[in-house]
Amino acid sequence: MIIKPKIRGFICTTSHPDGCAAHVRQQIEYVRSKGPIASAPKRVLVIGSSTGYGLASRIVPAFAGGAATLGVFFEKPPEPDRTGTAGWYNSVAFEREAHAAGLYAKSINGDAFSDAVKEQVIATIKADLGQVDAVIYSLASPRRTNPRTGVTHKSCLKPIGAAYSNKTVDTDRGIVSEVNIEPASDADIADTVAVMGGEDWEMWMDALEAAGVLAPGVVTVAYSYIGPSLTWAIYRNGTIGRAKEHLEETADRISAKLADKEGRAWVSVNKALVTQASSAIPVVPLYISLLYRVMKAKGLHEGCIEQIQRLFATRLAGNPQPDEDGRIRIDDWEMREDIQAEVAALWEKVSTENLADISDIAGYRAEFLKLFGFGLEGINYEAEAEPMQPLPSA
Ligand code: NAD
Repeated sequence: MIIKPKIRGFICTTSHPDGCAAHVRQQIEYVRSKGPIASAPKRVLVIGSSTGYGLASRIVPAFAGGAATLGVFFEKPPEPDRTGTAGWYNSVAFEREAHAAGLYAKSINGDAFSDAVKEQVIATIKADLGQVDAVIYSLASPRRTNPRTGVTHKSCLKPIGAAYSNKTVDTDRGIVSEVNIEPASDADIADTVAVMGGEDWEMWMDALEAAGVLAPGVVTVAYSYIGPSLTWAIYRNGTIGRAKEHLEETADRISAKLADKEGRAWVSVNKALVTQASSAIPVVPLYISLLYRVMKAKGLHEGCIEQIQRLFATRLAGNPQPDEDGRIRIDDWEMREDIQAEVAALWEKVSTENLADISDIAGYRAEFLKLFGFGLEGINYEAEAEPMQPLPSA
């Protein structure tokens, strides 16, 4: 099959197996170039391990610390006439590279919100690893069925209290326009908290603890975002921000439950980056395009792998440097005053006409395509590719 990108709005419906593998290898090479992280956990469960921040959180402990990793994700496997999702091919590539390096790597493809997947993970840990030293929780999902109630909740990205309008960009067409979003209802807020808040993270940690598969001193980390005031109405003060507040409160509850075994739950506030999840948020892709421009000019730009390498090598290595609310801040460079002042000034000016000149929309698009395995050096996109790639551990 000759595989080309097919972009529909903010998603690409095809992905390239060899390109995804090259993207995974690039990330592994970066981690190797930074050297080993002596304190990296040795047996790691990553929930949401196939793309974005979760994939990076699997690569870093494996290739900087020789960790055994168990990954959980929800991806579409390939069919003879249709490519699998990028996360599928990323996971195939990750497992191949890990196995070639002599590392344990298994993956479970299923709904992480369900009891069945939690049971499968626990059985796999018991059979293969005994216990885990770290649990990384990196899910981004538009819906969740609560296994206790059977109710399916859908998350949304809406402001709270008042309608909101601001600039946004159609990244595909390069058009900057005004977006108007009506405020969330109480049900919208509750649903978004049910999907992206901390309830499922706590259910995971309770189930793992009850099964006796959490090692003494276990660390669990979930990811959050705050960002600058220009995105607050849609992000931090909107429905998704309520969910993140809930996630952050959950960290304290989990830490209290883990205190006996000297375990700890952290929330790490990460940088805004191009991922499948973030490209669906109004306003944010335009902010990211300007942010990339400013951070690249200052030599401070990082992608998921650089962020997570820094998280493990500095903050999780015994010096978390929490903020006043107890959160790790790996968004520290994004939030620097000089960076934010420059982004805010560009925000005022940006329009369809000057988008290509004053923002890094080109970088945004290139990163977006890379998420699906397109635009990688050394890949011949005119050549036949084999879409049917099984997961080595399946
Ligand atoms: P992503 O879309 O790249 O990854 C989401 C992962 O969740 C994938 O592995 C996917 O397979 C998995 N997943 C989704 N639904 C699932 C389900 N039901 N069962 C099992 N797996 C499922 O997203 P991302 O941007 O890396 O986001 C991960 C976390 O990082 C989120 O909490 C997000 O809010 C946070 N974060 C993202 C950014 C950003 O700018 N991208 C910034 C800060 C924090």
